[in-house]
Amino acid sequence: MLKIFLKKNEEKRIRNGHLWVFSNEIEEIIGEPGNGDLVEVYDSKEQLLGLGFYNKNSLIAVRLISKLKVVSLQDLFSNRIMNAYDLRKNFYPNRESFRLVFSESDFLPGLIIDKYNSSFVLQVNSFGIQKNIDSIIEILKNEFDAQNIFTKNDFYLRKLEGLPEEDNVYFGSASTEIIDDGSIKYKIDFNESQKTGFYFDQSDNRFFIEKIVKDKTVADIFSNSGGFGLHSLKAGAKSVTFVDSSSREIESVKENLSLNNLNIDSKYFVKDAFDFLEETVSSGKKYEVVMLDPPAFAKNKKSLHTAEKGYEKLNKLALLCVKDGGYLVSSSCSYHLQKENFLNCLNRAESKSSKDIQLIHFSGASLDHPRLSAMPETSYLKFAVFKVFRQL
Ligand code: SAH
Repeated sequence: MLKIFLKKNEEKRIRNGHLWVFSNEIEEIIGEPGNGDLVEVYDSKEQLLGLGFYNKNSLIAVRLISKLKVVSLQDLFSNRIMNAYDLRKNFYPNRESFRLVFSESDFLPGLIIDKYNSSFVLQVNSFGIQKNIDSIIEILKNEFDAQNIFTKNDFYLRKLEGLPEEDNVYFGSASTEIIDDGSIKYKIDFNESQKTGFYFDQSDNRFFIEKIVKDKTVADIFSNSGGFGLHSLKAGAKSVTFVDSSSREIESVKENLSLNNLNIDSKYFVKDAFDFLEETVSSGKKYEVVMLDPPAFAKNKKSLHTAEKGYEKLNKLALLCVKDGGYLVSSSCSYHLQKENFLNCLNRAESKSSKDIQLIHFSGASLDHPRLSAMPETSYLKFAVFKVFRQL
C-alpha cells in the first residue's frame, strides 16, 4: 500500500477535521503513488490519519476522503451522496433542484454536483474524483434516475490540479431545464449560463429579502438571472431595475419574468455596475433598496488589497443611491475576504458616503452549502443587510 508520513506536528490541523495535506507537510512517501491514487496518511508517530487521493502536481498533495484504512470507494461515494441528498431534502422537501454535493463540505473533496431536476451538473476539481468518475455516474443513474450528466468545470481550479481544462458529457446531453426554487421558476440554458447554470448559494437569501421590499423601488445590481429581483417582485416590490454587464443574463431575466408572470414595472441595464451607480449618483435618482452581488473581486490572497478597495468603492456608490431609511443588501463571494474585513469595507463606505448604517442581518450561503468548521475554505459567501440613514 502507498503510504505518506507527515512531518512532526503537521497532523494537528488534520486531526481537527481539515481534509487537505499540503505538499510541504510531507516527510516521506512509501511507494510511487500516481495522481489520483489512494494513499494512507500517517503522522510522524506512524498513527493513521486516514485515506486520501494523492496528486503530485498540486500544492494540495492529498485530499482526505476517509478516516479508515480500507474503504470501498463505491460504497463511500454512495453513502456520502445519499447523506448529502437527505440533508437537502430535509430542508427543501419540495425542491428538485439544489446543490446536491458541496465538495469537502460533504466529505467528497473536489466534487460539486448541482441537481437541476434530472440533469446533474458536475465540477470535477480533483484528480482522485476524475479517476473514479464512472462510479459517481453510476450512482447518479441508479439512485436518482439521472437523465443528463455533464460537467461545467472550473478551469482555474482544474489547472491547479493538473487536470485537462475540458468539459465532458457523461450521459444524455447538456441543454435546458426549468427549475423551481420553491417560489420562482428559472429557465437554465446550460450552454449559455455561468458556473454550473445557477447560483444556488443565494437561494435562502433571496427569500430573506422578501421581508424588506414590499411597495419599494429596488435595484438588483449584478442581477445574473434575476433571482433577487424576481423574489422582490413576487413579494410586492413597486419596481425593480436589473443591472448586469452580460446581455445574455439580462435576456434571461426577461425570460424568467414572463415565466413567472411577473411583468410588473421592470427596467433593464446591460451595463458595468460601477458606471450604472456613478450615473445614478450624478442624476440624483434613489432607490429604496439597492442589492449588490458582485463576482469575487479577490481571486487570491495577492489581489485582496485591490479587491477591498473595489468593495469599498462599490458599496459607497450604492449607499449614495439608497433613499434615506432604505436598505443596502451587500454580498461578497470572495473567500479571501474574511467577514470582519468585508464589514470594514462597508464601514469605510459608510463614512465616505456620509451615511449611518445599521447591520440588520448577516448570513452566508444557503443550507445546501454546508461548512466544515475546521476548514475555513468551505465558507466563502457573505450576505449583509443594512438599514441606511443620512447622517444627522
Ligand atoms: N445576484 C445573482 C448572482 C450574481 S453573479 C443571482 O442571484 O443569481 C455576478 C453577476 O455579475 C454575473 O451575472 C456577471 O455577469 C455580473 N457582472 C460581472 N462583472 C460585472 C460588472 N462589472 N458590472 C455588472 N455586472 C457584472
